[in-house]
Amino acid sequence: MVVAISIAAGAGVASASRGGGGVGTPGSPRLSDVVCLQRCAGLRVAAPGSRVQLSGRNLDGVTKVEFAGGAGHVSAAADSVTPTSAEATVPAAAKTGRLKALAYGVAARTPRRKRLEIVPPARIPDSGDFQLSSAEAHPHRTYYDGLRPPGVQYLFAGAAVTDVRIEVVDLTTETVVSTLVDPAAAPNALNDFTWDGLLQDGRPAPDGDYAFRIGSAAAGTATATSDSDFTYHQFRFPINARHSYGDGYGAGRGHQGQDVFARCGTKLRAVRGGRVQMNKVQSAAGNYLVIDGKRTKKDYMYAHLLTPSPLEQGARVHTGQAIGQVGQTGNASGCHLHFEVWSSPGWYEGGHALPSVRRLLDTWDAWS
Ligand SMILES: [Zn+2]
Repeated sequence: MVVAISIAAGAGVASASRGGGGVGTPGSPRLSDVVCLQRCAGLRVAAPGSRVQLSGRNLDGVTKVEFAGGAGHVSAAADSVTPTSAEATVPAAAKTGRLKALAYGVAARTPRRKRLEIVPPARIPDSGDFQLSSAEAHPHRTYYDGLRPPGVQYLFAGAAVTDVRIEVVDLTTETVVSTLVDPAAAPNALNDFTWDGLLQDGRPAPDGDYAFRIGSAAAGTATATSDSDFTYHQFRFPINARHSYGDGYGAGRGHQGQDVFARCGTKLRAVRGGRVQMNKVQSAAGNYLVIDGKRTKKDYMYAHLLTPSPLEQGARVHTGQAIGQVGQTGNASGCHLHFEVWSSPGWYEGGHALPSVRRLLDTWDAWS
């Protein structure tokens, strides 16, 4: 039930999986974030001597991190370098600003809105009771069983390692839907906590707006920060690009699903995580994929894929994971996804295709 991710792995992995393609020379470093890891006054508030972690892509060649300061820049050697993260100790003359990472003579800068604030060392709290300094939910839009589950990076001031109480609050009803403990969290250091999206009774939480509230487990009270909110959905729309609807259920020809037109080659994403039940090619459906949706008792079928999905039968899939591309294989005219939702016990296992498929897609389309 409680999933606590270690500091180093958490921040790096989170930003690396942001994905999204884009331009840029393959292999050149890119920075997506910087956070303070140790001796911190806030998530992005550090002092000379603090440890900071840069995250991004292609960072394995980073040797040097430059900070604003002095007449131009002051630099520090990078260490704990991985493809998605690099760490450094803030040098004495560093000032507030953006950071630069250097790899093979190529420089990458942190995004403008993720600048690192440098404060005097005296501002680093070193004693006293638990006090939440900052908390930031990541990502702010999350999905049940998604590639990036709801998480929160937080810092607190305090004298000692503490069991931290984390409450997940439904912002609509203002009720706590889950109370969890992040054991032995360190004060004045980055802590990264991940929630599995389940209610106390084990069911996935309903769609909605939520926030993390954080406090000391001993004190039994928790507070939220303005940045600790996130939206949570159980499903997402399969196409994250321009699309239009074609034939729906029935359509006077016994059509069992909903057609969604989009450019051939557009990425298809799993509307819900689960397991691949079938990955085959058939004369009408073309390349198709059936996913047994996790905790849904339903199956989700995607047809006319451009090429066979790379996912093998039995493979575990997460909500939003790329599962293939829009195509027009099989009996299809025009590039489109043919999508079916099957009731329990599932696709050609005694279930039937649901006529409500269009309504479901419309609902998911509203937020993803
Ligand atoms: Zn169709």
